[in-house]
Amino acid sequence: MSDLAKKSIKEKGLPLIEEPKTKLPLYISLRELSLRYHFGTAKIQTFFEGLKEGKVYMTRCRKCDEKFFPPQADCPKCLESDMEWIPLSGEGELLTCTMITVKPSTFAHYDNYIVGIAQMKEGVRVLAWLQIDDPRKIKPKMKVRLTTVRREPEHFITYEFAPM
Ligand SMILES: [Zn+2]
Repeated sequence: MSDLAKKSIKEKGLPLIEEPKTKLPLYISLRELSLRYHFGTAKIQTFFEGLKEGKVYMTRCRKCDEKFFPPQADCPKCLESDMEWIPLSGEGELLTCTMITVKPSTFAHYDNYIVGIAQMKEGVRVLAWLQIDDPRKIKPKMKVRLTTVRREPEHFITYEFAPM
């Protein structure tokens, strides 16, 4: 149960709080839900096959040249589905990053981590964790390399940045 709900129950006997912006009453559910998502990957299976081979793919619309990362199978711009799958070289330039110290509950088992956005040589921007031994070594526009890694303790393959 959240501290807010506890406090409210103690004071009013009900898990009711005031929404900060609208000042309208809000009921805080005392049940915590655990959600697990499933989503179809048939049209972007190349992306996952690539990860297994150590490659990170983007897509490029053959009609309008728009590039997508994460890859998309259908172009939202011209509504075509004629995509070219292009493996990223991995070369990128860090645009921004932040260290996450207060984590979502589903990430609570990880040590503090750094999330960065880099401009990739191929023209897309990628959001990924940045592996660096000392955050003080992070410099504006530093060169980073996107690589595939195993994320522990789950041991699944994903992609992360590392300094070049
Ligand atoms: Zn297009």
